[in-house]
Amino acid sequence: MQPAIAVRELTKNYNEGTSGTVALRGVDLDVHAGELVLLMGPSGSGKTTLLSIMGCILSATSGSVRIAGKEVTCLSQKLLPAIRLEHIGFVFQGFNLFPTLTASENVELMLDLKRVPKKEAKRRAHELLDQVGLSDKYDSFPADLSGGQKQRVAIARALAGDPEIVLADEPTAALDSHTGRSVMEMMRDLAHDRGRAVVIVTHDSRVLEFADRSIRIEDGLIVQPPYGKPPVAVGAEVLTQHFVGAPSLPAFGRGGI
Ligand code: ADP
Ligand code: MG
Repeated sequence: MQPAIAVRELTKNYNEGTSGTVALRGVDLDVHAGELVLLMGPSGSGKTTLLSIMGCILSATSGSVRIAGKEVTCLSQKLLPAIRLEHIGFVFQGFNLFPTLTASENVELMLDLKRVPKKEAKRRAHELLDQVGLSDKYDSFPADLSGGQKQRVAIARALAGDPEIVLADEPTAALDSHTGRSVMEMMRDLAHDRGRAVVIVTHDSRVLEFADRSIRIEDGLIVQPPYGKPPVAVGAEVLTQHFVGAPSLPAFGRGGI
């Protein structure tokens, strides 16, 4: 089966020509339908850049990204939004809700773009807000919602077009432990029960228990994930001990965020 997302030798150099910042230095990554993949790494390592290129929000400097088998890297900026609309739900780190629209209207907007009739869009927006536990907030404006509630509106909006790929940038960062857990459960169900490809950028190790795979990025390159790494043969005793079982991680609901 072809991957939902296939990334090859991807590089990104911001402000080329001037001094520039090399944010990605040759990334290879496949994400399949039905899996939840975490993208972890220190601040400034290139997580948001990689997610944004996979989400057709940002163009790469070189390399290739295929979405559902379609090469998108060479597409003009004009064509990328159509690919995004068709295949991708993106949850931004800062929510990116429209402040003058209600929670429901923020979700309906996405359905409008997909030419869903207004009445049906409203019905579907309410259904999505119900799913994220915001049945009583249809008509609230973002300013009147907590961080967790805004995050959940952003998730409802990302899911509105029923995308086969869901990308989320630090979706639990602003959430309390209970909400963080329910957001991650929702993301896991999307992957496992509905066959979506889900990629989540995080630096919160408490979400590890929800992941099928975690990938670590440092200085714009994917490095081996430390958990489950096979022991090295030479000097094995020391190394094996080091990698027997994942280190115990604090979990949502136990330690709190
Ligand atoms: P992360 O999400 O892992 O914190 P980013 O992808 O945001 O990392 O950033 C990777 C590198 O690219 C950093 O050095 C950052 O300063 C730089 N960078 C990110 N966005 C821009 C931009 N719009 N213009 C210039 N440099 C940027
Ligand atoms: Mg980031």
